[in-house]
Amino acid sequence: MSSWEVFGYDAVKAGARAVVGRLNPVLLHFVENCVGCALCEVNCPYTPAGEEYGPVEKAEPLRKIVRGQVFLSARLLPQLFGAKLPRTAEELDRWAELAYRCTNCGLCYTTCPFGIHSGTMISHLRYFLLMSGRVPTLLKMMMDLEVSGNILSAEAFSRVWSELAEKLKGLGVTFDRKGAKYVYLPSLAEALITPGAIVGTAKILNKLGLDWTMPGKPLSVRAPIAGLVGDSEAVLEVTKRVVDYVAEVGASTVVLSDGGYPYRFFRFDAPALLGKPLGFEVVHIVELLHEALKKGGLNLKETDRKVTWHSPCQLGRMSGFIEEPVEVLSSASKNFVKLESHGLFSKCCGGGNGIACVVPPTLEMFEKLLGTRIPVSEREKAFLDKLYKDILVAGKAKVDEIKKSGAQIVVTACVGCVHTLNMTTKAHGVEVEIKTLPEFIADLLPG
Ligand code: SF4
Ligand code: SF4
Repeated sequence: MSSWEVFGYDAVKAGARAVVGRLNPVLLHFVENCVGCALCEVNCPYTPAGEEYGPVEKAEPLRKIVRGQVFLSARLLPQLFGAKLPRTAEELDRWAELAYRCTNCGLCYTTCPFGIHSGTMISHLRYFLLMSGRVPTLLKMMMDLEVSGNILSAEAFSRVWSELAEKLKGLGVTFDRKGAKYVYLPSLAEALITPGAIVGTAKILNKLGLDWTMPGKPLSVRAPIAGLVGDSEAVLEVTKRVVDYVAEVGASTVVLSDGGYPYRFFRFDAPALLGKPLGFEVVHIVELLHEALKKGGLNLKETDRKVTWHSPCQLGRMSGFIEEPVEVLSSASKNFVKLESHGLFSKCCGGGNGIACVVPPTLEMFEKLLGTRIPVSEREKAFLDKLYKDILVAGKAKVDEIKKSGAQIVVTACVGCVHTLNMTTKAHGVEVEIKTLPEFIADLLPG
């Protein structure tokens, strides 16, 4: 039976205790200091899908958990102090519905005068839900696969990776080469959804003349996927795997082409989780391209096509790379245009934080690839169907901007953004090509 069918109050209480065990001063500030000004509501991509999906409303269950476990008055009178835990499967489902309407885009954090990041609170709420039996089946499958370390255990995944590896060998790529200065770390998700990003990155690294290698097998599904449900134990295990691999090669720099949460995680969160420096630098491919551009070493062939940039929330707003991709793309296209919301408040695609990974079209894609049905209960199916409707609403503002820009190609740098934009532009009838930055730039490298 799918865990989505089960409800156990003991699991709910254990989940609440586990979340409270992670309380720290920053999280307590987020929980305690909201004044209800609603400034964060305006920018949240999910507010158009329903007023109940505003940042404060979605974080409220986490506040209930904390109040009920920490404050004596709320422990004694949970109903009165808004600290009641779910008592039925329906109530638990409602909390899951709220938690899976957050892309962790950081727009609420950027807008809030008190720096409250509802996305962070919602990540903890997802951990509570994981403990209480509410995690989408596909996401759980991928988490288990990643923790197992045997990422290519499915024949279909192994085939996709082998075909890609053959292409890379043709470009002179060496795998697992000790002594290389740079390690490029592509994930299984990139191999499945944006293989062009991997081939493009290989071409760019070769063109830049770097001494680099990459793992012969992916080290993660999408480094580390358990972060999407706040499972820090699983995240730590995958992080150690990556750190050990890089140490074994002896590289000083890790290059990523996925500018979604893997970049932010390895650059900023992983050292804190490990409690020590990683022992290597983490860069995104756009940083290397930008550096080469500034030194006058890119000399790209220019295209006439109208191109725009969709800034992945984790690379732009949350990591500060806002103008670098624009400068690189402006040097590649005479017709580069910025989207209306370019910059710190760039709109989210609507599918981040694992949402696009679990909706029915993705489930069907995996079923086709694996040649088998992924068992999902009726209750979970209803949850996923509604989530898909809402992702299309949440993503519409971005699609409207793209349409208004008149761009023929949208370039971005996150596997989740590519997947989401492919779904949302198609659903809203906007014909546009979606490409990753390395794929786009590699086609314009001088011969
Ligand atoms: S992180 Fe983004 S999606 Fe999540 S609540 Fe904040 S604004 Fe909304
Ligand atoms: S902007 Fe900050 S203080 Fe205002 S409602 Fe949102 S989280 Fe609360």
